[in-house]
Amino acid sequence: EQTTVVVIGAGPTGLTLANLLQRSDIPCVLLERRSRDFVENRHRAGIVDARVRQLYEDWGLADVLGGPPDDGLLEFRVDGVAHLVDHARLSGGRYGWLCPQQVLVRNLITTFTDGGGDLRFDVPDVAIHDLTADRARVTCTGPAGEPTTIEARYVAGCDGARGPSRVSVPPGTMATYTFDHEVSWLTIMATTPPPPHPLLSVSDQGYAAHFYRGPQASRYYLQCGPQDGPPEWPAERLWPELRVRLGDAQLPDGPITEIRRVDMRSEVCEPMSHGRMFLAGDSAHVMTPMGGKGMNLAVLEAETLALAIRAAVRDGDEAGLRGYSTTCLERAWRYQEFSRWMLEMLHDSGDSSRVGPFRRRLARTRLAALFTDSTAARVFGEMMAGVGN
Ligand code: FAD
Repeated sequence: EQTTVVVIGAGPTGLTLANLLQRSDIPCVLLERRSRDFVENRHRAGIVDARVRQLYEDWGLADVLGGPPDDGLLEFRVDGVAHLVDHARLSGGRYGWLCPQQVLVRNLITTFTDGGGDLRFDVPDVAIHDLTADRARVTCTGPAGEPTTIEARYVAGCDGARGPSRVSVPPGTMATYTFDHEVSWLTIMATTPPPPHPLLSVSDQGYAAHFYRGPQASRYYLQCGPQDGPPEWPAERLWPELRVRLGDAQLPDGPITEIRRVDMRSEVCEPMSHGRMFLAGDSAHVMTPMGGKGMNLAVLEAETLALAIRAAVRDGDEAGLRGYSTTCLERAWRYQEFSRWMLEMLHDSGDSSRVGPFRRRLARTRLAALFTDSTAARVFGEMMAGVGN
């Protein structure tokens, strides 16, 4: 088999890239290890920021966004006291979309396949070869068990943090920067009414948050101890603690549909390309969920790569591909810095036994500036909206 681009991984990155290539009339094959049902029901991010909403609109893909528009208000609740920050107003009226990741993924799959796109699920054993030769080769097993080889001009590694792309790069070619934030959360999905605005709450008990995931669906985050997991947090302990930390004695409980522990860690690989392969999204970097930028950054990279491939294929201009890694890394580090800034602010502001009273005062000063200093608030608003445009 021959194609122009093999895209590995049908998460938000690979699916966005495949749709943009399709709209550019560039042949591509998208290979996904998991089943369609699995990827369409994987709950993760929930907010498409203003920059990414604009991107989908620019490409005629506004319909992939499901859920309501984000009114741009974010509530910080500090010791039970509400502070509303209007980040849409602060960024000049740019607003995003409350679109759960699985809804975006579902819609991107439908749009791509309805347009005749070649998307293969349940492909278990993708391997990448010949990245520095004239044509790259991707091998895998087809649906009937037949060995398959696809030759391509380019390979897009969009296979998340544990996929085969990153490990196909020869040792010593790529540097990996990792950071452990020494904070863990329980992430909970429940069938309960969502809050009117995304809610981030700080108190002496520690950080907690509550987000929209559907008309009767909520995502909660709860900072937990380094040894804690779901067994330590049965519903009888969880709901009272959320009520205390969110400062809402009336917070209704409901069926918990998913509970996991997530350790806050960050990772960046440099460079984001090797020969004919380009990494995009979580395959190149992992962000903590704080600040809600992982998926948004990933989608921006899908566009940067689509435009660079289009210039190379249509016009023979490879400058975009040569500059791809530098362009993306600049943005990735900026988003990492924002996420870390916010994580430090919201965790150090809480339980002082973790960081001591001095760092707690610093964090609370940083937080208060968002409510009292219009310059600090504007920078925050711009980052919430997303870099660019
Ligand atoms: P993925 O979504 O991981 O997709 C990679 C795909 O590649 C998967 O479908 C995988 O099955 C496939 N794959 C893996 N190996 C292979 C293989 N061998 N062959 C073929 N396919 C393969 N981001 C935000 O912007 N906002 C948020 O609020 C937010 N909250 C989050 C909350 C949590 C709890 C977590 C875990 C993440 C959160 N993120 C958030 C981050 C966001 O979910 C990721 O950044 C995003 O999923 C990255 O998309 P991706 O397509 O690069 O990777």
